[in-house]
Amino acid sequence: MSARILDGAAVARQIRSELSSRAAAFTSRAGRQPGLSIVLVGDKADSQIYVNSKLKSAGDEGINAALSHLPASASLDELLSLIARLNADPTTDGILVQAPLPDPLGPAAMQKVFDAIDSSKDVDGVTPTNVGRLVQNRADLIACTPAGIMELLKRSNIEVAGKHAVVIGRSDIVGKPVSMLLLHRHATVTICHSRTQDLEKIASTGDIVVAAIGRPGFVRPSFVQPGAIVIDVGINLVTDARVASGLFREGHPRRGLFERKGSVLAGDVHPDVADVAGALTPVPGGVGPLTIAMLMANTILAAELRLAAGSSVRL
Ligand code: NAP
Repeated sequence: MSARILDGAAVARQIRSELSSRAAAFTSRAGRQPGLSIVLVGDKADSQIYVNSKLKSAGDEGINAALSHLPASASLDELLSLIARLNADPTTDGILVQAPLPDPLGPAAMQKVFDAIDSSKDVDGVTPTNVGRLVQNRADLIACTPAGIMELLKRSNIEVAGKHAVVIGRSDIVGKPVSMLLLHRHATVTICHSRTQDLEKIASTGDIVVAAIGRPGFVRPSFVQPGAIVIDVGINLVTDARVASGLFREGHPRRGLFERKGSVLAGDVHPDVADVAGALTPVPGGVGPLTIAMLMANTILAAELRLAAGSSVRL
């Protein structure tokens, strides 16, 4: 069997083409564009790449996106003061703090920052209010990657109700929220993590398998029952030649890419799973572009909701 490739990039383009008219309608009603503020602390190269790609996408969608860049030496108080200013700014509809924060801020910093964001501007779906609303199945602003996965399943006509979904990974940003969303769509959900016993056996009972682990090629063909839908969330930069050759067979185009560049992106799902699965998201070009599309969708939704609630400004 060769899996159907779920083209996340194409679905993301479709979603974004639908958003442009909503952004334009908001702009004509409010007299200003929807506003997104991205906060970056430090100079981590991959974070800068992600932020630049979000800023560019926002510009393409008719969103006024601004970057607030603090140095790696910034204190938590400085960061929280910045969040307070963005909360109070009536032209900022969405706030996104790029993860991870620099280590010196300490392990609890990210949660303190999430706690400080105005939940009506929480376009990443990370505040306690929005997480609580997600659990109660009445959320407006939902974490972007899980929301993108659900949009991909819906637009690919993949039935979720009654299916056994196995989610590998229990992070606050992917594993837990996607499990909740699958549950709300009437799947029977099993969540696996690093202490799960017989993970391979459990995963192989899934009609839908979502891999959000952060380990290249972790999900091998033996983890997947024939015909299962496999969603690969992982984005891992592989720089080790042995790992690359264990992932990509001789002649595979991504192996050639590794040989030319010395690094290659790989998902959490081994490429050979394509021989067993019924459908599979590629890496890159699967879940990643959907995450950005849903950030744009959340920003426009937040702007619309704030305007309707009278908490936004008309210029
Ligand atoms: P995370 O916070 O590091 O969580 C990883 C999860 O995987 C944890 O729950 C961990 O279990 C579990 N895990 C780790 N090793 C395991 C093992 N050997 N067996 C079973 N479970 C194991 O990661 P994340 O933020 O969810 O991200 C996961 C991956 O998705 C990363 O590659 C990340 O780059 C990627 N990602 C992609 C997008 C996108 O837009 N495509 C967005 C977000 C993240 P414990 O809880 O027990 O430690």
